[in-house]
Amino acid sequence: MLKNISNLQATLNKLVTDQQGINSEGKVADYIPALADVPPNLVGISVATIDGDVTSAGDFQVPFSIQSISKVFGLVMAMNRIGDDLWQRVNMEPSGQPFNSIIQLEWEKGIPRNPFINAGALLVADVLTSHFSTSNLAFLTFMRSLAGDEDIHIDNSVYQSELVHGNRNAAMAYLMKSFKNIQAEVPDVLSHYFTQCSIAMSCQQLATSLLFLANKGIDPNTKNNICTARDAHRVNAILSTSGMYDQSGEFAFSVGLPAKSGVGGGVVAIVPGYGVICAWSPLLNTFGNSIVGTNLVAGLAEELGLSIYH
Ligand code: GLU
Repeated sequence: MLKNISNLQATLNKLVTDQQGINSEGKVADYIPALADVPPNLVGISVATIDGDVTSAGDFQVPFSIQSISKVFGLVMAMNRIGDDLWQRVNMEPSGQPFNSIIQLEWEKGIPRNPFINAGALLVADVLTSHFSTSNLAFLTFMRSLAGDEDIHIDNSVYQSELVHGNRNAAMAYLMKSFKNIQAEVPDVLSHYFTQCSIAMSCQQLATSLLFLANKGIDPNTKNNICTARDAHRVNAILSTSGMYDQSGEFAFSVGLPAKSGVGGGVVAIVPGYGVICAWSPLLNTFGNSIVGTNLVAGLAEELGLSIYH
């Protein structure tokens, strides 16, 4: 259970200072060239609680490319839009494969293993593209309203970079189209997907935006129903099994929180009934997870006894 958190600020300061000192051997995600331009040594963390507190340390106000973390918000929008029909087109099983692997998709007849690998997120992007007249705008509006910040924007250099270097994502989308599991035109689906990945947000904004998942689907700040309690439970469950790429098992084993990472270096972790942690630092391990970001979440979870499996 949650330990005493009266000195959360001091705890975050110490975690960040300790991590700033480590000599991380990770790499930035240079397969999207614009992401390689980000200074690699930045480190930030924010903890937002459902009681309305936000405590942060380090570079928590610096916007970074949310990348795969956008898949969580896309999934919620698609669940709200088409309900359980979604689960006819995408599964909820861990993939055991790298996030951008295409191999399983052919064997499994164009049904992605889960919504958090790229194939699954492209499927979700197809749902959004097909069900909103301007899905990119709908997505951006959703993010702005969750964060309570109209300044949130799309980083156009990241978007262009993804578009130019997105052949593997295009291949997956066309493969799913060949199995009739993509309805919209593939270039439109890719455009939506790269747009949502290219949104820039800070640790503070992301932690605040995901509070509804720690609060049974209700945004505690606005009291808006963002999704049903059942869907919040379901999203958290898939985050627990598939949110940290093919390091999800180890993360559940050692940290024990529903979490999602992105190749921009962000890691978000949901603490049901308490709040959301967002940590960020650009250097990634071989799974595509931020080394320092994961260390920060793990350190805080350990310090405060946050694991949902206690
Ligand atoms: N836009 C990235 C891609 O499609 C997202 C990957 C990620 O963050 O996992 O490769």
